[in-house]
Amino acid sequence: MSQEWNIRSRGHVCSICQKPLVDKTPVVSALRETSDGYERQDCHPECWKAEQRDWEPFSQWDGVYLAPVKEEKKEPLKKEDASELIRKLITLDDPAMRNVIYVLAVMLERSKILVERDSKPQGDGTIRRVYEDRKNGDTFVILDPRIRLENLAEVQSQVVALLSGTKTLGEVAAAEDAEAAEGEGANATVCD
Ligand SMILES: [Zn+2]
Repeated sequence: MSQEWNIRSRGHVCSICQKPLVDKTPVVSALRETSDGYERQDCHPECWKAEQRDWEPFSQWDGVYLAPVKEEKKEPLKKEDASELIRKLITLDDPAMRNVIYVLAVMLERSKILVERDSKPQGDGTIRRVYEDRKNGDTFVILDPRIRLENLAEVQSQVVALLSGTKTLGEVAAAEDAEAAEGEGANATVCD
């Protein structure tokens, strides 16, 4: 698969019957792995249940559809910055940024901006985690690179530097390339 990280927006009509999803009602969301990324479906639960499928979802979860709202009151600046930064980094699709992207995702999950919907261990020991934006329903498939504990502080300081604008993306990518060249060691997660 060419793209390791994908942003997939929540649909506003049912992927199966094409009728609008109704505000604050249950929705079944599913990701289907295709040759060029993930295809997302958002469906009425009854449509999902009734549909005959000849494919297995990569991931599937129950959620609540929220209709788009016009610009609300501003959130604390830092959260918006982190949210924007992770979208920018995911769009760049640069493998050198994987540690930074993952740490940002964990920060956004702790800030209740993202919610983890699913996790899929990979053969190489990494984990693909499915995050959903609580507010607008965008889905992110993010690689958990199983950052080594001794490298975690460094990655966190890179994230802080990016958020405060004291470092450019190129500088961080170069630092991560150097670190990747050091080879593999014991893995640690970024959990509390
Ligand atoms: Zn439907």
